[in-house]
Amino acid sequence: MDGLSELDERITGCRACPRLVDWREEVARTKRAAFEDWTYWGRPVPGFGPHDASLLIIGLAPAAHGANRTGRMFTGDRSGEFLYPALYDVGLASRPTAESADDGLTLYGTRITSPVHCAPPANKPTTEERDTCRPWLVSELKLLAPTLKAVIVLGGFGWQAALPAFSAAGWQVPKPRPAFGHGAHVVLPGGPEGKGLDVFGCFHVSQRNTFTGRLTPGMLRNVLRTAAAEAGLHPNGPAE
Ligand code: SF4
Repeated sequence: MDGLSELDERITGCRACPRLVDWREEVARTKRAAFEDWTYWGRPVPGFGPHDASLLIIGLAPAAHGANRTGRMFTGDRSGEFLYPALYDVGLASRPTAESADDGLTLYGTRITSPVHCAPPANKPTTEERDTCRPWLVSELKLLAPTLKAVIVLGGFGWQAALPAFSAAGWQVPKPRPAFGHGAHVVLPGGPEGKGLDVFGCFHVSQRNTFTGRLTPGMLRNVLRTAAAEAGLHPNGPAE
């Protein structure tokens, strides 16, 4: 078992946040009617994707009836229905849909994780929960560092959570901290391997953004293509 497999295993057993442990397990017990035949995962959701990824996507937290049900990031929810087709379009995923952890979906050179690994009530972790979960992200960044070249952070919450994690993992984060914005791009020098990191901001793929048109499929594909090229992944298609 390599370091990242061990980390993922340890994450799935974490019970450090009492409110989130209660919530994820209550949701798994009570379920949504449409999923009553499912045995919910009901645990922390580890990162998904190859252990030698050069591109990392950092979201917010698992959805109660999405990843908290299926056990895989952005799998089985509306956010995933927006993210995975875009990943497929640019050549970073083997298929455009994500229904369950055993649906055969593979990511190419790309890993997806989140700064909070348990589903929070109303999709809103507290700052204490965010900070409690940070060491997992720091460990994941350090383990990915030998191959990691670029990161896309989805949304302002993820951005605020990720910058201190980059710093704790060894990259130099400017002060004052760079502001989040869609299309933001900052290069962090240093890092565990001393080769710097390209960090991109992108509006989160939540329904609040995608249903209102604040984030369109074209906008997402553009950020994915730019970051993937920076990560050396040769994405499909031209910029839009
Ligand atoms: S949110 Fe993170 S730190 Fe809190 S219980 Fe879940 S995995 Fe553990």
